[in-house]
Amino acid sequence: MNESRFLFCSRCGGAKIQMRSPVEFECESCGFKHFANPTVAVAAIIANRAGEILLIRRAKDPGQGKLSVPGGFVDPGETGEEAVRREVFEEVNLQVDGFKYLASFPNEYRYQEVIYPTLDVFFTAAVESFSMARARSEVQSVLSMAPARLEFGEVAFPSVEKALRLYVARLDRG
Ligand SMILES: [Zn+2]
Repeated sequence: MNESRFLFCSRCGGAKIQMRSPVEFECESCGFKHFANPTVAVAAIIANRAGEILLIRRAKDPGQGKLSVPGGFVDPGETGEEAVRREVFEEVNLQVDGFKYLASFPNEYRYQEVIYPTLDVFFTAAVESFSMARARSEVQSVLSMAPARLEFGEVAFPSVEKALRLYVARLDRG
């Protein structure tokens, strides 16, 4: 947690900010309390009929040029399943249903020199093929790969790496 990320109160603009905990600051001028709890993000490991999984190469930082899976932040009012379905379509152009919960891992999302704590919630899904997949929002390119060929060192975020390792381990156990 970067404790210097808030310099001024977001309500009154006062500069007397007290960190009460790693996720709470309080303004001494107006008493406003700001909570910086983790933001929820969702992501999907999607397999085709051949057992290959869909990966993206990120177009932007954080992790520009590195591998990830499609996903993004949950909007207010959305369920995790709705958010992952929307993000998958926005990023890789696939209309996917039947997401199943896999696991969740905490992550840190560095954006404009601010570190946002997130909880990344991973789902799996199966589709017939990736023939309709193409790179859209925030995606440089789309690729498919047999899980055994994954290069974990190329993965953008530790949370995504953990989810992919879990997915591969479950495949190995049958
Ligand atoms: Zn204030």
